[in-house]
Amino acid sequence: MEYLKNNILGVEQRIQNACITAGRNRNDVALLAVSKLHSVDKINAAFREGLTRFGENYIQEAIDKIIHLDSIRGQIEWHLIGPLQSNKTRLAAEHFDWVQTVDRLKIAQRLSEQRPQKLAPLNVCIQVNISGEGTKSGVAPEQAFNLCKEVSLLPRLCLRGLMAIPEPGKDTLSLGDMQGLFKVIQTQLLAQNSAPQFDTLSIGMSDDLEDAIQAGSTMIRVGTAIFGSRITKP
Ligand SMILES: *Cc1c(COP(=O)(O)O)cnc(C)c1O
Repeated sequence: MEYLKNNILGVEQRIQNACITAGRNRNDVALLAVSKLHSVDKINAAFREGLTRFGENYIQEAIDKIIHLDSIRGQIEWHLIGPLQSNKTRLAAEHFDWVQTVDRLKIAQRLSEQRPQKLAPLNVCIQVNISGEGTKSGVAPEQAFNLCKEVSLLPRLCLRGLMAIPEPGKDTLSLGDMQGLFKVIQTQLLAQNSAPQFDTLSIGMSDDLEDAIQAGSTMIRVGTAIFGSRITKP
């Protein structure tokens, strides 16, 4: 898959350029390859090109892939980046390394209870709604700290940071505001000795990764620029 190799090189070049512009270290920005609606073969090829973090949106599709790619399970991280309903938390807790879309305490509690003892604590991010009313997912920015505080107390979870999904034209918070919120919450949590591993600001996708890196993103989630366009779900 020659195009995949070229796409990955292109994205890597964009990340490096953005890091130089922002005066940041390349190693401080993780690349999450968003593989939703793309085949196991493509994921395998991307892995062979050196990518080790994959993001999926739909639980059942993701689990089929995770099982299919069991032989490399120990070498890759699977991140859930799609909305999570409470009847699917057990599957998420059993199969993923990260869940980035926690936006209410009940979901976090279920993930904590359902995370198998034999696995490391589940890494979670709190999803913040930066687009105001009318968007369904994410906690309101004013409530993000309280939710972080509560989630940090749950035993089988490791609170890693914040994530947001921009909706062009609707956002009431800019990427820069999101960075400000992240820093305030991080400082408060550290001051209270909660969530020592709160180090992740998951913002930036194919179209805005440069802006996100400028705004302090530590994890960009890139789908189209790596795998090409998706056949949308019917
Ligand atoms: C699909 C998706 C992405 C990747 O978007 P691209 O524009 O294809 O890079 C990133 N984050 C989330 C939450 C997504 O659902």
